[in-house]
Amino acid sequence: MFEALNERLTGVFDRITGRGALSEKDVEEALREVRVALLEADVALPVVKDFIARAKTAATGEDVIRAVKPADQVIKIVYDGLVDMLGGEEPVPLNTNATPPAVVLMAGLQGSGKTTTSAKLALRLSKFDKKKVMMASLDTRRPAAMEQLATLGQQIEVATLPIVAGESAVQITRRALQSAKLQGFDVLILDTAGRITLDEGLMNEVAEVAQIAKPVETLLVADSLTGQDAVRTAAAFHERLPLTGLVLTRADGDGRGGAMLSMRAVTGLPIKYLGAGEKVDALDVFDARRVAGRILGQGDIVALVEKAAGELDQAKAEKMARKLAKGQFDLDDLAGQLNQMKKMGGLQGIMGLLPGVAKLKNQMAENNVSDKMIDRQLAVINSMTKAERKKPDLLNASRKKRVAKGAGVEVQDINRLLKQHRQMADMVKSLSKGGGKNLQKMASMMGG
Ligand code: GDP
Repeated sequence: MFEALNERLTGVFDRITGRGALSEKDVEEALREVRVALLEADVALPVVKDFIARAKTAATGEDVIRAVKPADQVIKIVYDGLVDMLGGEEPVPLNTNATPPAVVLMAGLQGSGKTTTSAKLALRLSKFDKKKVMMASLDTRRPAAMEQLATLGQQIEVATLPIVAGESAVQITRRALQSAKLQGFDVLILDTAGRITLDEGLMNEVAEVAQIAKPVETLLVADSLTGQDAVRTAAAFHERLPLTGLVLTRADGDGRGGAMLSMRAVTGLPIKYLGAGEKVDALDVFDARRVAGRILGQGDIVALVEKAAGELDQAKAEKMARKLAKGQFDLDDLAGQLNQMKKMGGLQGIMGLLPGVAKLKNQMAENNVSDKMIDRQLAVINSMTKAERKKPDLLNASRKKRVAKGAGVEVQDINRLLKQHRQMADMVKSLSKGGGKNLQKMASMMGG
């Protein structure tokens, strides 16, 4: 998978690598080629558009690191965009911590790999997580499917619910729940019936089973080789069933990769596992960074740029610390803080890192600082002149009016921002009197 895409992207990067400087036009040209490559890989158009827009912003933004070759920077931007497209940096673990039995409901079309994936998951949970797992097939119309699950269960030494002919899916669900509870199973995997195509009867049945079984995880299994069809299937299931995650099978196949790259953005659901073969142990925990790395094949460069970015942040943080230690904090510093907050996943992210700075947190809460407001505040600061940013006292009524107009906000928004800045500046001053140690620590955490 991703071979063609990898080849195309490598070509794009080869063309810009080796050039000293890149003009804005060069970057745009490269991104245009990346766009074509993604579309050819069958990535959904809105997803591609969003990706390119973000990449452009990143490439022309203020976070450009001068210590790194421009082409390397473009590679890193594309890498970051892919990680983002695939759902972020951290794999999302499967939740099995419910009152036993934690029910995992498997849904999907027939042939998607649902039964095989149920067994793969059962093996992983029993072998690695030491859970006591039971599986049950709800495919009442295809006795072969029930037997297939039983055979797989024997093979991986995981219990399956004994097959009773003539029961409905709902009856089997009730029996499975009771049996798993009585026998002390931690996890119950329900392998629902699949059809060749989406149909109403199937959806109703799965929805009813879900209501009874109250699964902690409802996973949709989709065949990555079917491209955008897999994405549409996932979206259609998600309309009827509160899915919690996706499993993409046949990642070992030679698909173009469009399904995997579009799934997350289109459905909003995390990809949790990849099926990577027919064997029962061929199930990988989905890792966006690893997949993005595989698509680009530029691991060294990504690592290099990450290191340079880290050093730059460190240098900025140290500079910030020196300023703070002197009790200085102007509106440019505030803008730096706001940008840093955005980078670190918004206010919640940064506050999580600053357990000791409750005062700041409260102050911000008082002032109604929400993540959405950060952009507005930055717009206000950007509408000021350099002198105004250094010396906010310059902002008299007419200047405030001008800034408000420029940023598309009201004068009272300017006043609110100035008040917030004043409070922060005061705090910086009082902290700096109390010794630079705390400040140094705070600044290095917040960057600047
Ligand atoms: P179900 O109808 O959705 O339950 O599909 P099955 O689990 O019976 O799988 C259909 C076929 O796909 C079987 O031959 C599986 O061995 C195969 N299969 C399932 N997952 C994968 C995978 O990740 N990679 C490959 N290569 N084959 C798979």
